[in-house]
Amino acid sequence: MEFSFSSKYPFTSEAKQKVEGSSLELNDEIMERAVQRVVAALKGEKEHAYRLHPSDELIELGSYAAARVMLAYLKNRFLTGRFAVAEAKRASSFMRSDSEENIRKLGDELGIKPTEFEGRMVLPVSQYVSFSPRSVDYRLIFRNVAKGFVEVKRPEVIRLMEEAVRIRMEALKPVQSPPKIIQEYSKKLMVLVPKEAVMKMSFKEGDNPPCIEKLLEQARAHQNLNHQARWALAVYLLSKNVSMEKVHSIFSNLPDYDEKKTKYQLEHVVKRGYTMPACATLLSYGICVADCRIGSPLNWKGKVENWKKRKSSSS
Ligand code: SF4
Repeated sequence: MEFSFSSKYPFTSEAKQKVEGSSLELNDEIMERAVQRVVAALKGEKEHAYRLHPSDELIELGSYAAARVMLAYLKNRFLTGRFAVAEAKRASSFMRSDSEENIRKLGDELGIKPTEFEGRMVLPVSQYVSFSPRSVDYRLIFRNVAKGFVEVKRPEVIRLMEEAVRIRMEALKPVQSPPKIIQEYSKKLMVLVPKEAVMKMSFKEGDNPPCIEKLLEQARAHQNLNHQARWALAVYLLSKNVSMEKVHSIFSNLPDYDEKKTKYQLEHVVKRGYTMPACATLLSYGICVADCRIGSPLNWKGKVENWKKRKSSSS
């Protein structure tokens, strides 16, 4: 069955117009579905049953809109982040097999407009840098760039569009006093949210170099970390003898947290005996944020102790 553009991409203006042009009103069915949508995102359920049959289209679009209003009302950054990742991944799973016409239409809406130059697909640098994921593969220095354009492949365009959807999902206009039904279901939603999802992080701060503090801060703020950043953080913490359990709990704050995957990745780091990358490597990954001149983040403690010694002997 071919699903409609709006069902696949409920964040588009076409979907919005459909809802606004209908006589749809918030009711329990829509709200239940909206709650399910957020909870499924929290649990990382990729295959949750979206009802894409044409007769369900309006319910589905309404539930998407209602979920966004609830998130804006709750002002919970973690929930919003998880929802944004889930919706972006859902959209990109449709994009991968969608027609060129739909991809172009969606790209126009998201501000990602690839063109052709000498038989290659290219994207203006400004669009590329606005939506490229924080991964070393997407850094401009590793790309073919000419005359203000970056060469891209179709899967990369889809990945950039996924990022654009995620960013769009995270931008919520504050809602102060929504309809009563939204308030009621927001309460219900918070009851259903697994406890660990809103768990506060507890780890000692201040003993780590600036790059690691920054990664911890991003995790604490429920922001996404790219693959290299996660790996560097995991290797660092495990090298500092932070327990596996604690490292896992830190990673559980990331919006796209997946329990099994995280466990596998952490065990993999231990099994392979990865050692902390040098500052130069972290610099090339875009993780380094200061000029500490210590060679490796693991030397931070020694540097701090030296500073203290020098300070006390000069005073
Ligand atoms: S110099 Fe090394 S320790 Fe300091 S911020 Fe950069 S990567 Fe981290």
